[in-house]
Amino acid sequence: MKKTFLGLGSNVGDRENNIVHALHHLSKKLSIIDYSSLYDSAPIGYLNQDNFLNMVVEADTELVTPYELLSLVKTIEQKMGRKQTFHWGPRIIDIDILYIEGLHIDTDELTVPHRELWNRNFVLIPLSELTEFLLIDNKKLLIKEMIHADQTDQVSLHKQKEEISYNVQS
Ligand code: ADP
Ligand code: MG
Repeated sequence: MKKTFLGLGSNVGDRENNIVHALHHLSKKLSIIDYSSLYDSAPIGYLNQDNFLNMVVEADTELVTPYELLSLVKTIEQKMGRKQTFHWGPRIIDIDILYIEGLHIDTDELTVPHRELWNRNFVLIPLSELTEFLLIDNKKLLIKEMIHADQTDQVSLHKQKEEISYNVQS
């Protein structure tokens, strides 16, 4: 099994419904091992937009290459009606590849681990529900130690994992 973490975000329309549908679409193609609670987070970068909902998903990507995974997430984003906006702008759904066990890629098209992984509490906080650490360059990086304590008020629990089901009509 190849452990992979994906970051889901939405700040347009019915945000929770969008995230749940994205998870549903992912589950058709990958085996979902676990997922976090939903968190509400203040926008970063471009501030004049609504708050996001975020979730981190753990999947098994043994059967797909990283570029197939990228193409899968882009297909789901498009199928869900994501419009081309600008970097860090509002979106119906954003699916980022955060981490793929044992993998290091640094190209324009795909960078894994994700470039912003350690900068974002809206990723680190949900991720900390799923794993204590990530192995990067043979180093064990503890998630709890990476969370930016001065910015924890920017991310708040929206819905507990136990109350979320992704068995929805697609
Ligand atoms: P944002 O950086 O705001 O999430 P987009 O979702 O529009 O922006 O992604 C822009 C591009 O980033 C994608 O077309 C994709 O090729 C590239 N990219 C690079 N690394 C990753 C990654 N780890 N996960 C998802 N997309 C990535
Ligand atoms: Mg993205």
